[in-house]
Amino acid sequence: MAISDDFLTRNYARQPVEFVRGDGATLWDADGHEYLDLQTGLAVNSVGHCHPAVVAAIREQATQLIHVGNLFYTDPMVRLAERLASVSGLGEGTRVFFTNSGTEAIEAALKCARKRRRAGKIISVHRGFHGRTYGALSATPQESKQAPFAPLVPGFEAVEPTVDAITAAVDSDTAALVLEPVQGESGVYVLDADVLRAARAACDAHGAALIFDEIQCGLGRTGDLWAWQDSGVVPDAVTVAKALSGGLPIGALIAGPAMADVFEPGDHGSTFAGGPVQCAAGLAVLDVVTDTGLLARVRTAGERMTARLADIPAVREVRGRGFMQAIELDGVDAMALVGRGLQEQRLVLNATSPSTLRLLPPLVITDAQLDDALTRLETLLS
Ligand SMILES: *Cc1c(COP(=O)(O)O)cnc(C)c1O
Repeated sequence: MAISDDFLTRNYARQPVEFVRGDGATLWDADGHEYLDLQTGLAVNSVGHCHPAVVAAIREQATQLIHVGNLFYTDPMVRLAERLASVSGLGEGTRVFFTNSGTEAIEAALKCARKRRRAGKIISVHRGFHGRTYGALSATPQESKQAPFAPLVPGFEAVEPTVDAITAAVDSDTAALVLEPVQGESGVYVLDADVLRAARAACDAHGAALIFDEIQCGLGRTGDLWAWQDSGVVPDAVTVAKALSGGLPIGALIAGPAMADVFEPGDHGSTFAGGPVQCAAGLAVLDVVTDTGLLARVRTAGERMTARLADIPAVREVRGRGFMQAIELDGVDAMALVGRGLQEQRLVLNATSPSTLRLLPPLVITDAQLDDALTRLETLLS
């Protein structure tokens, strides 16, 4: 058995389960128990575990070339950049900077925004989450995450995600406003389209960059390719990561025309980023998640999921869209529930607070699997 904490740092509250295999929405542990996954490695396995097209892309590319670094071109890197720029809708002149994670995509966005304005304030919003490295952490206004690691990076300010607060905060000294259109880590809070529009207007008025962090809510998670789509707003840059390579480490800053030409040779870099294997996997993932039929199904199945969740007596509130939802529970310890869900119902869940469960099924989960998972959740909560 691989369940041991002897040599691992203690920064994760791991469940005592050793997974050995996955396929679609299903996982198997070392004892052969079969689980349904509503957690997806925290919004990573959107195309399911070991999607055949992703496995084939990785296998094929790994036999050809695994690494050459960023002083050369590879076909998967160039093609994935073109694909991301094109599906982003950010417009002509959009360019992509690759990273190995979400937090690094945020760092790149912040550095790009500051260089563009020659210094300036970075504004983020309450309940936001942008990562754990110093810049991203400084834009993550959560006391428990920031306090142990002070001092943070100077020049960051946090405001409420409201029209008035954002309009008042953005000024001529602002380099960027960064926010998640649907806030994931804090428990799935959908920002109003009005807030996104006010953010766009405030940034336009003062020349600040509007950065949408779609690391969790993007790439089809909400039933739209991008969570901001409905608002009619177009950001200056978008960060993606999590689901992009089906489980391999990757992230990207997609910089629209206002940001695309800020970085010059020597400004920024990353050894592994944009590697051919992760980019080949990314191309396979984009083929799946840009399919309009799949996205429409995520929306309708998501609505069915919302309705069933709302009918559970212990559920006080349901938030979210598509396959990015959270439930607020009455009189139940959500953290303990995750452990019981694994043991009793073979259901992989995630708690974002002592009263909140976040549900992130793979976008490819079948109707029968989703119904089965929701029935297990109902039993668990009864
Ligand atoms: C997970 C996440 C990040 C950080 O990504 P890592 O790959 O863990 O560094 C940043 N922003 C959002 C919205 C996230 O959900």
